[in-house]
Amino acid sequence: MEGYRADVAFDGEAALPGGALVLVRDGVIVAVEPGSAPAPDGCPVTYLPGTTLLPGLIDAHSHLCGNSRLDALDRLPGLSADELDETVTESLAAQLAGGVTAVRDLGDQDWAVVDRHRGRPGGPVVVASGPPITSIGGHCASMGGEASGVDGLRRAVRERAERGADLVKIMASGGALSPGTDLRACQFTLDELRAVVDEAHRLGLPVTAHAHAVAAVRQCVAAGVDGIEHCSCVDEQGMRTPPELAARLAAAGIMVCPTLGHDLSRIPSPTPAVADGLRRHVEDRLIQAGELQRAGVTLISGLDSGIHPAKAHGVLPLAIVELTAVGASAGAALASATSLAARACGLAERTGRLRPGLAADLLLVDGDPTTDIAAIRNVRAVVSRGRAAVAGGQVPGSS
Ligand SMILES: [Zn+2]
Repeated sequence: MEGYRADVAFDGEAALPGGALVLVRDGVIVAVEPGSAPAPDGCPVTYLPGTTLLPGLIDAHSHLCGNSRLDALDRLPGLSADELDETVTESLAAQLAGGVTAVRDLGDQDWAVVDRHRGRPGGPVVVASGPPITSIGGHCASMGGEASGVDGLRRAVRERAERGADLVKIMASGGALSPGTDLRACQFTLDELRAVVDEAHRLGLPVTAHAHAVAAVRQCVAAGVDGIEHCSCVDEQGMRTPPELAARLAAAGIMVCPTLGHDLSRIPSPTPAVADGLRRHVEDRLIQAGELQRAGVTLISGLDSGIHPAKAHGVLPLAIVELTAVGASAGAALASATSLAARACGLAERTGRLRPGLAADLLLVDGDPTTDIAAIRNVRAVVSRGRAAVAGGQVPGSS
């Protein structure tokens, strides 16, 4: 048995007054005691004064096959299985260094993550959707998930269940990084989306849908999806959330991952016009996510990691910080990347809180993120399933 002690602690849902002593055996949390409690005889304790102890973070929207370069998505179709595996391994190492101990992969290339990286014995826990279901020639079609028609879509869902995917991801609208697709347009009919949700739920799989277009968000609510990615509510006039739609998202309990977190400093030599455009885009995005937040929509943290230099694996803390910029309290922002993300990812019985019986996925940061959220970037130590994985380093970034 070993212990981890800190004077400040956040258990995934709330701050623990007086800190905590977390006792771990065989990779599992066996007790959560007050910070001043004595350790059992002979139990070594890691105590780092000035740190906060919290559950390891969960990146609810990752593309582990993406290498975070400008051509991260374009290069995918040409990669061999070995090259994909190498990228996934590097991505997971970078995630751990950023305090992330569980990842939900929502953009698999040719089943690499589902077939070879789910259920890895060490490192971040990985849950995965397989290639996102998309329309013929649609957003991210080259990942291998094209399907059409009610029967074809039901078949695609069954294929995911048979191959062991943890959930179904569907592209309900076009996307920014797929030329020729329209992020303001729906990719499927409502009947098709309903068939996907029906088939997935019959097989016990949740459905999360990529949706930028406001029309696609409306479809998703009507179809009864469990989660929505991005949810930027774009129409001809830009990003804005119709208040009645936000209210319906909140009432339906749909978990929204707004994929915040932008490190604009990593974009290689942008022209002033490009840099300006990106800054404005992020500002608009934060305003629109604030509309969701104020309406009471449950927001979870996920970065869309791996698709772009501004979205590198391991900078999830920036998404948590941005969530406070849209109006969430520090506690709500921390919960969005721990207990709430665990619920959205089907991991609530495995990780995301400091609770006996859950995996010993722990993060120690310098400072107190429950009062100063920027401290979540000060990664001091990461414990993944009981193993000390990473020590030290600030998560870089411009935000
Ligand atoms: Zn994505």
